[in-house]
Amino acid sequence: MLGFSDEFNCYWRSLLRILYPAACALCRIPLVLEETYLCRTCILKIEPLKDPKCIKCAHPLPPYGTYKSLCSACRSARPYYDRGFALVPYEEPVKSIFHQIKFGKKLWLLKIFTKILHRFSKSIDLKNYELIVPVPLDRSRRRERGFNQAYVIAQMLKRSAQTSSIQISELLRKRRTLPQSQLRREERLSHLKGAFSLRKREGANGRQILLVDDIVTTGSTINECAKTLKENGAERVDFFAIARSEFT
Ligand SMILES: [Zn+2]
Ligand SMILES: [Zn+2]
Repeated sequence: MLGFSDEFNCYWRSLLRILYPAACALCRIPLVLEETYLCRTCILKIEPLKDPKCIKCAHPLPPYGTYKSLCSACRSARPYYDRGFALVPYEEPVKSIFHQIKFGKKLWLLKIFTKILHRFSKSIDLKNYELIVPVPLDRSRRRERGFNQAYVIAQMLKRSAQTSSIQISELLRKRRTLPQSQLRREERLSHLKGAFSLRKREGANGRQILLVDDIVTTGSTINECAKTLKENGAERVDFFAIARSEFT
């Protein structure tokens, strides 16, 4: 049986829905009361990244490959981060959702990933990290967008971890660079060299850090951030991203 407050919330939600009818962010069909942001059909299209994954960079591995834990890229050039986690493949419909978040400034659509993020935070011990560090945007991009989605994801993680021992720190700063999407793979690596620095000189020293970003494609941004943190004394740097591209 519903309690008074549940009933009141239900009533309130129905009233809001009548006043502001909502449509699915992907297929635009009207949503029923129990649905938020996406309809049931579209939400089922978002599947978690399948195992096996590379334990370093979360890149999916071929199911019957020789190597069960490391992908070929991590075997040939050891990245600076220690371990990577990602929730979903960066492909449709996740691509459209992120396009709307970034370019349509619909930051609230990040909540679509709340459930899957919650499941993730229960599966690993976030208390092992002292700092959650969002990957920064350069100043002009941040101003133009009005928010850094990586910072918002860091907040979602902290809320989900339900612990006060882990702090969010905007420890990294980025100088202005061309958008990574406009560069070829080789250019991306050299272009990012020295792009990041620390706001507080001793901020990373001896720390266990979880770097957070929205999407990881080639991993070059995450790797350059991890390099900066390690060079400044970080003991461990792992990363977390909502989406991971399957092709690098
Ligand atoms: Zn839909
Ligand atoms: Zn890898």
